[in-house]
Amino acid sequence: MDIHTTTRTELIDITDRVRAIVKESNIKNGICVISTRHTTSSIIINENERGLRNDILEMMEELVPENKSYAHNQIDNNAHAHLRAVLLGSGATIPVEDGHLVLGTWQSIFFVELDGPRNRSVNVKIIES
Ligand code: ZN
Repeated sequence: MDIHTTTRTELIDITDRVRAIVKESNIKNGICVISTRHTTSSIIINENERGLRNDILEMMEELVPENKSYAHNQIDNNAHAHLRAVLLGSGATIPVEDGHLVLGTWQSIFFVELDGPRNRSVNVKIIES
């Protein structure tokens, strides 16, 4: 799945695109594995509410401030984005039952851009079981 991000940090809801991939696969029961292929982005599952999306980005700034001295910044000046990606993780695993992702009512799947804007790639693999 290709994702074009437009700002420095943002949460992009990819739930519908993942659902479409599950549907296309025709797999009724299994596991859906979603993973980002980049070291400065993450995949998370949470509620898609504007305030909360901002809270998550503000939490990242509080936990891992951008304007701090990091060793990696001597290489390419984006250590904060790598460190935030470490905290949020690189993927998510969701059960597939009866052809549908098993998500709670308020759960959405997000691609988290931590060092944008960039062209990104997310891998979605569905394993039948
Ligand atoms: Zn880097």
